[in-house]
Amino acid sequence: MTEIALEHQPRPPRSVPRGILPVDEEELVACVACGLCLPHCPTYRVSGLESESPRGRIAAMREVELEGAPIDAAFVASMETCVQCRGCEAACPSSVPFGHLMEGARLALAERASTTRSWVRRIAEWFGFAVVLPRHRLLLALTWVTLFAQRLHLVPRRYGLPRLSRSSLREPLHGDHDADTVLFTGCVMDAWQRDVHRAAMTVMRAAGARPGLPGRDADCCGALHAHAGRIGEARRLARRVITSLAGDAPIVVDSAGCGAAMKDYGRLLGTTEAAAFSARVVDFSEWLAVRPPLALRDTGSEVVVQDPCHLRHVQHAHGAVRRVLGPAYALRETDDDGLCCGAGGAYAVLQPGLSGEIRNRKVAAINRAAASGRRDEKGSPIVVSANPGCAMHLGAAGLDVRHPAELLVEALEPERA
Ligand code: SF4
Ligand code: SF4
Repeated sequence: MTEIALEHQPRPPRSVPRGILPVDEEELVACVACGLCLPHCPTYRVSGLESESPRGRIAAMREVELEGAPIDAAFVASMETCVQCRGCEAACPSSVPFGHLMEGARLALAERASTTRSWVRRIAEWFGFAVVLPRHRLLLALTWVTLFAQRLHLVPRRYGLPRLSRSSLREPLHGDHDADTVLFTGCVMDAWQRDVHRAAMTVMRAAGARPGLPGRDADCCGALHAHAGRIGEARRLARRVITSLAGDAPIVVDSAGCGAAMKDYGRLLGTTEAAAFSARVVDFSEWLAVRPPLALRDTGSEVVVQDPCHLRHVQHAHGAVRRVLGPAYALRETDDDGLCCGAGGAYAVLQPGLSGEIRNRKVAAINRAAASGRRDEKGSPIVVSANPGCAMHLGAAGLDVRHPAELLVEALEPERA
């Protein structure tokens, strides 16, 4: 049934589910429209528009699902401007699972892409999601091409790509033969930020573990696909990852977005095998925080903590970052209650205006927190973030963003580094 046909049909009685949005009706009606989530929504904070607030988005979903309203341009804009940070979910006293609702809305939009998106965008999405991300060798080859383009100054800084490192790309990671844990390496992070994985493995070894690497086919966890509503592809990738990480060793993930997605495989696939896999997944700092303390020196440095939304609102593991870095760094907190930085998967590319305004607020909060802190040689405050997307997004605004693992390597007593 097309959207055009729906527009010309008489509206059905209220509360008759149409099955247009694949959402749970009970979850959809759980919102009592109290508005307590509004201050925690980055898009509402920037625009002040009800249609760009969690409450407004849920109301729009209800109109489509329960009242037969069309999926029109206003609905698409309301859904696509959501960063999917889930700050609203964490703040909601009625426990509305906004993430599930938005996932259903994004799936419906992805299924209607041929009528709501330009052919340029559809080809770009197909190439990125279906061709490149699931094929790690192709992603690495394209990364080499991008690296040379960067050296020739052909990649504008506004694209937000980190400066790619030739030596990092050349040098493969080496897992331990008798591994007792696995470090998940994933897609974009392994291609663009492999040195973070290297730092994570150094810290894991200093903590007494023997980290191994995933087998073939763990090319991509599917987090970006799920974010974009490409649930079928996300499920296929999740199955591949599960197959490639057989056994019962803990799976340490140093990307907050990937970790959140992999902890959700049980729900995504609905199998006991997937649920058992998800139970093995642990964020890097979460894993480290419950082990005997590392031998760290007090660096005397001050660092501003940026909580990635998928670590704070989804995994609820942001406290672990503070516990592992606290002995070595003076940690400074932002005063924005963990508001999103505006990265959100491909959000910065698809919604550059809103994403930039959200980032400006985050940068201002970081600068306030760092007002009396240590600056690096360029004068930037040092920021710690456990998510590659946030690190790249904030790095493109000129901030010096490090991963907790990188800061820990700097602080390890020399004999342990
Ligand atoms: S999502 Fe939760 S906090 Fe937001 S308006 Fe609905 S009930 Fe209130
Ligand atoms: S997920 Fe984030 S951007 Fe989307 S409605 Fe909730 S708070 Fe706003």
